[in-house]
Amino acid sequence: MTDIDATTCPNIMAIRDGIPALSRDIHGKPLIYLDNAATTPRPQAVLDTVLTYESQFPANVHRGVHTLSGEATHAYEDARRRIAAFFGGGELVFTRGTTEAINLVAGSWGETNLGAGDEVLISALEHHANIVPWQLLCARRGCVLRVADVDDAGELHLDTVIDAMTDRTRLLAMTGVSNALGTVTPIAELCATAKARGITTLVDGAQMVPHMPVDITAIGCDFFVFSGHKMYAPTGIGGLLSSGAQLEAMPPWQGGGDMIRSVSFADSTWNDVPWKFEAGTPNVGGTIGLGGAVDWLSGIGMDTIANRETALLADMVTRLKSIDRVQLVGTPSHRAGAISFVIDGMHPADVGAMLDRHSIAIRAGHHCAQPILERLGYSATARIAPAFFNTEAELEATEAAIRRIIDVFG
Ligand code: PLP
Repeated sequence: MTDIDATTCPNIMAIRDGIPALSRDIHGKPLIYLDNAATTPRPQAVLDTVLTYESQFPANVHRGVHTLSGEATHAYEDARRRIAAFFGGGELVFTRGTTEAINLVAGSWGETNLGAGDEVLISALEHHANIVPWQLLCARRGCVLRVADVDDAGELHLDTVIDAMTDRTRLLAMTGVSNALGTVTPIAELCATAKARGITTLVDGAQMVPHMPVDITAIGCDFFVFSGHKMYAPTGIGGLLSSGAQLEAMPPWQGGGDMIRSVSFADSTWNDVPWKFEAGTPNVGGTIGLGGAVDWLSGIGMDTIANRETALLADMVTRLKSIDRVQLVGTPSHRAGAISFVIDGMHPADVGAMLDRHSIAIRAGHHCAQPILERLGYSATARIAPAFFNTEAELEATEAAIRRIIDVFG
């Protein structure tokens, strides 16, 4: 066991044993999974919660009078309660993930509250999911999308964001952590500053939730959105957290079963919040799995996870900096989750493919964040995204593999 393992999480090997995908061999060697910003592997404890639902009470929620449906409804609503509590409270609407939650806010709040000339302010760091829905909304409503720039290190400064605010700014929609560079933004200060100017705030928490304790009250945003699969839950489940009053004031977004109180051919009335925004049969198994994931994360402790990941990231940054032909893309002072880099003379896709031959899984490409890569002068990077379950030995093996790739192919 290395120093990082011993000091930050002595039972890390037992935790790893509880994540089945980590025991796979790829090309004859044990998998080193460093693509956690794309998605995280699912622990057996999470899979078990989903399997219990699917095998024991695979019923629809809210509708049935029979026992199985009652059990499914209880598990679904109990998961909602535990997940909301994990994030410090608020009303939780389940969505497919971050992308759908942002589209919900654009389609409901945006359609109602934004008009010609109003401005939506995002940052240069945003994932496409926090750009394109606003572009579509602006095209429909005649509003304007403004972008607060970052510096050459990929850092977002409060002053720059304030400079980009005008008396027409109605919404500040920004990420807490950049998936492409790992930059941690001053999200609570950004929200406080926006709020003081009467600007509504949305925080893209997709890359925050696996890496740090999140308290939406402390962040002080109007909308917080996230994806379950980035925090050890299955794909296809995530959510929008907001206040009951905020959600009450918004019209439904999608129509269908479960989101109504009554329907006639003349008109319909809506269910209470949060069900008003959950049309159709929800992803019950995924929701229960997300509940299992927050229990699993709580058992480990988000502070433990944050401390350990800080140590692993610092270690990997030092290793990469020690390799001659490696350039880091983005050197933020406060980093979470991801390190982008390029190797002189090699395409990032080739770096990714060659690391895969060493059984190391990383991401290469634009990371669904083309504008920030272009801003820094790149069309693609290689990205190492460690999580707390990674070990120092894996990072050492990754450094060795990169050196070997450069020696052999460079
Ligand atoms: N926002 C950020 C910062 C992300 O990293 C991602 C996914 O990578 C998303 C939004 C979109 O998440 P999803 O595809 O789960 O909806």
